[in-house]
Amino acid sequence: MSISKEEIYDITIIGGGPAGLFTAFYAGLREMKTKIIEADNKLGGKVHVYPQKMVWDVGGLTPLTGRELIDQSIKQGLTFDPAVVLGQIVTDIEKNEDGIFMLTTSAEERHYSKTIVIATGMGGVISPLKLEVPRANEFESKNLYYKVLDVNEFRGKSLLISGGGPSSIDWGNDLSPIAKEITLIYRGDDLKGLESTKTKLINNGVNIVFNTEIHELAGEDEVSEVVLYNNKTNERYTMPVDALLVNHGYNKDNYLFNNEQNKTGLELGDYFQVKSDANGNTNLPGIYGAGDCVSYEGKLKLIAGAYQDAANAVNSAKLYMEPDAHKTAIVSSHNDILDEKNKVYLYG
Ligand SMILES: Cc1cc2nc3c(=O)[nH]c(=O)nc-3n(C[C@H](O)[C@H](O)[C@H](O)COP(=O)(O)OP(=O)(O)OC[C@H]3O[C@@H](n4cnc5c(N)ncnc54)[C@H](O)[C@@H]3O)c2cc1C
Repeated sequence: MSISKEEIYDITIIGGGPAGLFTAFYAGLREMKTKIIEADNKLGGKVHVYPQKMVWDVGGLTPLTGRELIDQSIKQGLTFDPAVVLGQIVTDIEKNEDGIFMLTTSAEERHYSKTIVIATGMGGVISPLKLEVPRANEFESKNLYYKVLDVNEFRGKSLLISGGGPSSIDWGNDLSPIAKEITLIYRGDDLKGLESTKTKLINNGVNIVFNTEIHELAGEDEVSEVVLYNNKTNERYTMPVDALLVNHGYNKDNYLFNNEQNKTGLELGDYFQVKSDANGNTNLPGIYGAGDCVSYEGKLKLIAGAYQDAANAVNSAKLYMEPDAHKTAIVSSHNDILDEKNKVYLYG
C-alpha cells in the first residue's frame, strides 16, 4: 500500500495527558511533524479526575487547580500546532517494510508515523466504575456524581460519599467546609489512604460509616433518599441526601497491552508498564515511552517526572530519525517560531 508523504508524521504520541502534551511541545521545538491521538474527547489525561484539587508540586508553578493545569498544559502542548485526534483509542501498532509505523484506532482509522511515543499513563484509558443499583443511570445527570467538577454544586448540601479510597477521603476533606454535612460510607472496615488524611477526615467532622453499601436510590427528579445496607448486621435503613458522590474505582485499559494481550511486542515491567531506559528507549527501535506508563530505575511518577521523560523521548526519537541531530535538550531560545511569539509577548 502506498502512503502519501503528507500522511506520514515524524512523531505520533499516544495519549494527551501531561506527558503527551509536553511531548508534543518538545517535538515542535525540535521541528518534528507531530500528531497526538487521545482516546478521550478532550486533552488533559488523568488530571480530569481532580479538576478542583490544588496541585502544588509542579516545578515553577504556584499552586493551581487541576483545571488550570489542564488549560495551561493544553496551551503549551499546542504551541507548534500538532495534529490532534480526539476520541480514538489506538488499538494496534504495526511496522511496514519501509520502517513506517501504522497505528490503527477504535474508529478504524489508520495513522502513519516514523516514530511513536507511548504516553498512555498508568492504567491507560480510565472510566469510573458505576454504581450498580437500579435507577443509578437516571440520576447520573442530576445529583449523583462520579467526580467533582465544581465544589459549589455541594454547597450547603447533605452529602453522601460512597467509597473508601484516597479520592473519597480527599473529597470528604475538600468539601467539608462547603457541604452542610458529609457522611462517608465504605463496604470494608478501614479506609485506604494516608493516616494523616484519615485523621483530617475525622477532625473535619465527616461521619464515617464502615461495612455499609448503597442498596437502593429513591426520589422523583433527583435522589432524595438512599437505602443503606450493613453487610455485617444485615440491617437496612434509609438516609435522606441532597447529593451523592461515588468513587468505587476505575475501569482501566490501554487496549494495546493489558493482562490479556500485548499487541505491541514491547517489553513490559510490573503493572503493565513499558520497560524503558531514562531516555525513553524501549526494546523496539522507533517506539519511545514517557510519563506514568514507563518504568525504569529512578522513574518519578509525578507530573514533574513526565516532563523530563517527554523531552528525553523526543530527543531519542529525533536521533532515530536523524542520527546527526543535536543529541541533548535544546533551550527554547533557539527556535525561530518561538522567536516570533516572543516579539508579541515582549513588545506587544
Ligand atoms: C487523584 C489523583 C491526584 C493526583 N495528584 C497529583 C499531584 O498533586 N501532583 C502530581 O504531580 N501528580 C498527581 N497525580 C498523578 C498525575 O495525575 C499523573 O502522574 C499524570 O497524570 C501522568 O500523566 P501521563 O500523561 O503520563 O498519563 P495520564 O494523565 O494518565 O494520561 C494518559 C492519557 O492517555 C490516554 N490513552 C491511554 N491509552 C490510550 C490509547 N490506547 N489510545 C489513545 N489514548 C490513550 C488516556 O485517555 C489519557 O488521557 C494524581 C493522580 C490522581 C489519580
